[in-house]
Amino acid sequence: MTPAPIVVVGGGLAAGTFVTQLRERGHDGDVVLLTEEAHAPYERPPLSKDLLLGTAEPSDASVHEEGWYAEHGVDLRTSTAVTAIDTAGRKVQAGGGSVDYDELVLATGSRARHLPLADESGAPVHYLRTLDESLALRERLAAGGRLGIVGGGWIGLEVASAARQRGVDVTVLESLDLPLVRVLGPEVAQVFADLHREHGVDLRTGVQVTGISRTGSGARVSLGDGASLDVDALLVGVGVQPATELAEAAGLVVDNGVRTDARLRTSDAHVHAIGDVANVDHPVLGFPVRVEHWDTAIKHGEALAATLAGTPTDADALPYFFTDQYDLGMEYVGHPGPDGYDRVVVTGDVPGRTFRAWWLRGDRVVAGMHANDWDAIDEIRSRVGTTDLPPGA
Ligand SMILES: Cc1cc2nc3c(=O)[nH]c(=O)nc-3n(C[C@H](O)[C@H](O)[C@H](O)COP(=O)(O)OP(=O)(O)OC[C@H]3O[C@@H](n4cnc5c(N)ncnc54)[C@H](O)[C@@H]3O)c2cc1C
Repeated sequence: MTPAPIVVVGGGLAAGTFVTQLRERGHDGDVVLLTEEAHAPYERPPLSKDLLLGTAEPSDASVHEEGWYAEHGVDLRTSTAVTAIDTAGRKVQAGGGSVDYDELVLATGSRARHLPLADESGAPVHYLRTLDESLALRERLAAGGRLGIVGGGWIGLEVASAARQRGVDVTVLESLDLPLVRVLGPEVAQVFADLHREHGVDLRTGVQVTGISRTGSGARVSLGDGASLDVDALLVGVGVQPATELAEAAGLVVDNGVRTDARLRTSDAHVHAIGDVANVDHPVLGFPVRVEHWDTAIKHGEALAATLAGTPTDADALPYFFTDQYDLGMEYVGHPGPDGYDRVVVTGDVPGRTFRAWWLRGDRVVAGMHANDWDAIDEIRSRVGTTDLPPGA
């Protein structure tokens, strides 16, 4: 009897990488990929960068050209949401029917966290997670005017950068004292604050959004200090949450994402989780890690494909992410973990925005990054996780 297919739920980069690697590793069994979006798997980083700038088109973000899935025997079903998993019967409900699986891969990613205050206001509000949302925002930026951004995280700042480069007036509203301060700490977060102010962003920190209403075709934002801001549109970028609802309903162990072992296996031996949705027992770092990084989607997809194609492989890559804003490109490797860091060492030319930063705990390097120092990444990778401290530490 032919075994049931490997079924993948989700159509992001983790899913796209997984099916690609499965075929490259010679797995010739049936594979079904079910995604609720109308598009084949695509990458999200361009959605807040080149796509908004108009220097890339949707096809540039695709994992593969249109015909790849059929040519490689991957049964790609777009606009098909999976609504339930039956782990005992090894099948999922999708598109009004059920699909049996031999192994199930959850690659459901994250969803943008919504702000009810904004959603209920009737004002023009954008979120940015999907290709369709990026295209809608691009159209808005092309019209010029004033954009208010709620949240000074990665998405908010990347959109601010693209919007300024398109001549849009931008105000960023951040509740903390600095944007990105939770991830980067004050030393490096200040660099990003300065960068945006130099490019004409009205960056307001330590402000609370207390109300949002519609005014004509635009939006009025009320702030905790009594001030208000009128804009033509708002982008809300207040983080994401892992799409765990299917896993929870199926009784899988969920705790800040779907919990897996180092081989990406969930609490059910035939169900695996990869990418943003997976909270993985990291075999090198020694604590569970769930990150929302492009590179992790790739590394998980590769590791699980190897395992299911017959070569058991740990998901042991160190977390890595990057951002590009104006002329600043940065790469970051590592994870401070539950114990955090106790000091930061910065070397190089901070005002000139070419530098390296290291986060240390005791005698250990827990994370490192560089800004515009493109020879640095090998050194950063080699020191992170070790007691090989950088000069000056
Ligand atoms: C605008 C933007 C810019 C980014 N820029 C960077 C960057 O510069 N650097 C970086 O490191 N990372 C960046 N990221 C993060 C990175 O893109 C994510 O970490 C990555 O997309 C995660 O991939 P994934 O496949 O795990 O999940 P996702 O990309 O979230 O894909 C999950 C897919 O599953 C689908 N799905 C969910 N539930 C179901 C269901 N029940 N049935 C069927 N389908 C379902 C979703 O609709 C979605 O298509 C960015 C993210 C965004 C949104």
